[in-house]
Amino acid sequence: MASTIETKTVLQVEGVRKAFPRPSGGEMTVLENVDMTLKEGEIVGLLGRSGSGKSTLLRIMAGLIEATGGKARFLGEPIDGPAEGIAMVFQTFALFPWLTVLQNVQLGLDALQIASDEAHKRALEAIDLVGLDGFESAYPKELSGGMRQRVGFARALVVHPDLLLMDEPFSALDVLTAETLRTDLLDLWSEGRMPIKSILLVTHNIEEAVLMCDRILLFSSNPGRVIAEIPVDIQRPRNRLDPKFRWLVDSIYERMTMPARAHAAEARPAFSAGGIDMLLPRVSTNSIAGLIEALAGAPYHGRADLPPLAEHMHMSTDALFSIGETLQLLRFAEIEGGDIRLTETGMRFANEDPHVRKQMFAESLLSYVPLAAHIKRVLDERPAHRAPYARFAEELEDAMSEEWAEQTLRSVINWGRFAEVFAYDENQAMLSLDNPV
Ligand code: ADP
Ligand code: MG
Repeated sequence: MASTIETKTVLQVEGVRKAFPRPSGGEMTVLENVDMTLKEGEIVGLLGRSGSGKSTLLRIMAGLIEATGGKARFLGEPIDGPAEGIAMVFQTFALFPWLTVLQNVQLGLDALQIASDEAHKRALEAIDLVGLDGFESAYPKELSGGMRQRVGFARALVVHPDLLLMDEPFSALDVLTAETLRTDLLDLWSEGRMPIKSILLVTHNIEEAVLMCDRILLFSSNPGRVIAEIPVDIQRPRNRLDPKFRWLVDSIYERMTMPARAHAAEARPAFSAGGIDMLLPRVSTNSIAGLIEALAGAPYHGRADLPPLAEHMHMSTDALFSIGETLQLLRFAEIEGGDIRLTETGMRFANEDPHVRKQMFAESLLSYVPLAAHIKRVLDERPAHRAPYARFAEELEDAMSEEWAEQTLRSVINWGRFAEVFAYDENQAMLSLDNPV
C-alpha cells in the first residue's frame, strides 16, 4: 500500500460484502469484496449499471445499513451508524412538502444539536451557496426540479461535511438543468467554497463521470465490486468535445461492454456466463429490431461507434448497452473497441421480411439463450406442454434476486412470444408451447 503523508485517507472500504435475505430463504449477495479508498481533495466516481449495488454501498458508507462483512472506515474510524461528517445527496430530492426551503435545509442539522440561531445562520449560508438566495420561504412545490435538487445539496452542505456522498444526483433532472447543476457544483468545489474534503459521485453516466471526477471506479454487477480504476487526467474545466475527453469516454464504453472478452479475468460480464441463470436485460423485440435496422442503414452500414450512436438514437448509455449486449448475445452483433458491428446474421435479419425474421430470432434464441432452450425443453416434455410461470421463477431465484428473476423471465417470455417458440397466458401465468407437435 502506497500511503503518502500529505494525502489523507478520508474513506476506506475493505472487503465489504452485503447479502440480503431472500423471502424464499437463503440470501442474495449484492456486494462482494468491495475495496476502495477516497483521499482528501478528490472527486471519485463510482460508475456502474442499475442494480449493481451502488446505492447499497453508499448506504453502508453513510452508516444507514450494516455491511455483512468487511469494513468501512471514515477518517480512520469504523463506520457503525450515521457518522457526523458524512452527508448524502439523493437522486430524488426527498424534501418535505409541508416545510419551506429554509426548514428543509435546517432539517439537516437536527441530529447535530446546534443552537437555533446558529442553525438558522448556517442554513441561510448553505441556501446562498447553492444559489437559492431569495427562496428561503418557498415551498418545494413552488420550485423547479433543478431548484429542488439545489435544496437537496444545501441540506447536505449545511452540516459542513468532510465527505459528500452523491447518489445519481443529476439523473432525475432534464439535460440542461443537470449540466448547470454539475457546473455550479464543480465551480464551488474548485473555488474551495465548500469545506468538503472529498466527494464520491455514484453514477451510471459515463460522460458525467469523466466530466466531474479525478478518478473513476468501475463497478461490476451481480455481485457489485470495484473492477477497475481509471484516472481522469484532463485539465479542468473540461470540455466534452476535447479529443482526450472523447477518447476516455470511448475507452470506458469499451471496458463496460466488453468484460466478457477483454477483461475476463478480473471482471464478470453483465450476463453471468453460460447457464440458465444468465441475467437477461429488459429489452423489447422492437428495440432489438430497431437497433439492427438503424445499424444496417446509413450512415452506419453495419458498424457504429457507441457514444454517437447513443446520442443519435436518443438513448441512455444503460439502454444502449442493454440492447447492444442482447444483440451480441443473440449473435446479431459484436461489440468491440467501443464499436458495435452487425454480424452477417444481423445484416441478413435487417433485410428480411417479418416472417423470416421471426424464424431467425427463434433460432438464435434457442441456440444462445440457455433459459429459452430450457423452457422449451420443459414444455416439450410435459404431456400438456404447459408449465406455470412460478415454476421457472422459483428455479431462477436460486441464482438471482427476485427482481432479476422476474426481469429475466419477462424478457425471455417476450422474446419467446415474438419468435413464436412459446406462448404465455398472462391471466393464468402459464407458459405453453406455441405449436406443440
Ligand atoms: P444500484 O443503486 O446500483 O441501482 P441497489 O444498491 O439499489 O443498486 O440494488 C442492488 C440490488 O440489491 C438490487 O437487486 C436490489 O433489489 C437489492 N436490494 C437493495 N436493497 C435491498 C433490501 N433492503 N432488501 C433486499 N434487496 C435489496
Ligand atoms: Mg441506486
